[in-house]
Amino acid sequence: MSQNPFQMAQAQFDRVADLLNLPQDARDLLRVPMREYHFSIPVRMDDGSIKVFRGFRVLHNDSRGPGKGGIRFHPEETIDTVRALATWMTWKCAVANLPLGGAKGGVICDPRKLSEREQEGICRGWIRQVARNVGNVQDVPAPDVMTNGQHMVWMLDEYETIHGHKEPGFITGKPVGIGGSKARTEATGYGVVYTLREALRTQLNKTLKDVTVAVQGFGNVAQYTVQMLNTLGCTVKAVSCFDSADKCAYTYKRESGVLFDELKSITDKFGTVDKEKAAELGYERLDGNAWMSLPVDVLIPAALDRAITEDNCDKVSETVKMIVEGANGPTTPGAEAKLLERGVIIVPDFLANSGGVTCSYFEQVQCNMNYFWEREEVLEKLEKSMVSAANAVFDMAKERSVSLRDAAYMISIDRVVKACRMRGWIR
Ligand code: GLU
Repeated sequence: MSQNPFQMAQAQFDRVADLLNLPQDARDLLRVPMREYHFSIPVRMDDGSIKVFRGFRVLHNDSRGPGKGGIRFHPEETIDTVRALATWMTWKCAVANLPLGGAKGGVICDPRKLSEREQEGICRGWIRQVARNVGNVQDVPAPDVMTNGQHMVWMLDEYETIHGHKEPGFITGKPVGIGGSKARTEATGYGVVYTLREALRTQLNKTLKDVTVAVQGFGNVAQYTVQMLNTLGCTVKAVSCFDSADKCAYTYKRESGVLFDELKSITDKFGTVDKEKAAELGYERLDGNAWMSLPVDVLIPAALDRAITEDNCDKVSETVKMIVEGANGPTTPGAEAKLLERGVIIVPDFLANSGGVTCSYFEQVQCNMNYFWEREEVLEKLEKSMVSAANAVFDMAKERSVSLRDAAYMISIDRVVKACRMRGWIR
C-alpha cells in the first residue's frame, strides 16, 4: 500500500499512541496540524507575464514554543507533504529538547527553472501572505529542500520592511554576517554523523573507521555528511546524485572512497555532478538506485522522502546493519517493518537530522542577544546536544524493548503531551 508522507506520519504516531495508551483528546490534537495557511503568490516573470504560485505554511503544534521549520521549493510539493514535515518538526524539536514547536512551509515551484529575480519574487510574495502569522515568537522559518541563505535574506528583508523594525531572529539559515550562525550550513550533515557515531558505539560496538557507507543525495545534508565522514576516517563507497539535465539520479561509486572536496568541486549548485569529470577521477557511474544495494555496512538516505519502500527494500544488501535517515521520511512504515524483521537498525530522521534545527535554535538565540559565537562554540554545543538526544533514545529503546523510532516518538510525544496538558489543551 503506497502512503503519502502525511499518512506515514500519522501511521507512525498512531502506533506509538497505542503503545503509550494516549487518551483520545491527545490523539485528536496531535494527529493533525493546529493551523494551516494556503495562499497564492502572484509573481511578475522575466518575460513580463504574471505567474501564480501556490504556497503553504502549516503549524502542527506550538505547545513547547514558537513553531519552527523550513520552507521547501519543489515542483511536486503537496499540502500533505508539508503537513507531514510540520508534524515531524514537532517531534524533532521535542526529541532535541528545544523550546520550539513544529511547522513547515512550501511553494509549488522549480527553482532550477527560475531566474534569481523570479525566486526573489516568490520569497517576498510568500512573506507578504503570512507576515502576520510568522515571527520570532510565533513561527520561525528556515531553509529546506532547494531553499538557501539567499532566499532567507529576501524573506527577512520583506518581513522587516512590512513590520518596520529589525527582527533577525524571525528566520534562520541566514548567511554568516547577516544574522546567520557559523556552522548552520554544515550542522544537519554533521549532526547525522554524530548520531551515526553514537549509534555504532552503543548498538554495534563499532567506530566510524570500522564501517563503510553509501549515501543517497548530494544536497546540503548529504554533502556535509560526506565531509564529516571523510574527516572522521569513515569510508564512503558511493553517493547517489540527482542529475537535473537527465532528470534522473546516478550513483557515483569509487572503491577507494568518495571525497567531499573533490566531488563538490565538480557539482553545480543544484547537486548535479559533471559526468565526464567524475569519470576522469575514477568514479563509476551506476543506476540511481544502486546506492541502496551496495555491499556496505551503513546506508544514509539524505535526499527526499520515501526512498526506501516496501517494494524496493528487498534490494538492501544483507551486509547493511544500520540505516541512518538524513532526509525527512525516507523509509516508509512498510519498508521499516520488513527491515527491522531482518535485524537492520534504523536511526530515525527526526533524531538523526535534528542538527539543523538545533543550530537554527542557536542562531535564533544569537540573533536575539545580538552576540555571535565562534564556530568552535557552536559545534561544541551542537555535538553535546545531539549526543545527549541520541543516547536518551538508545536508552529508552533498550528499556522498553522497542525500535529506535518508537523510542524517539515515545520521548517526543511524552514531552509534547505534558506541555499541552499543562496549557489545558488536553486533560
Ligand atoms: N529544514 C530543516 C529540517 O527539516 C531545518 C529546520 C529549521 O532549521 O527550522 O529540520
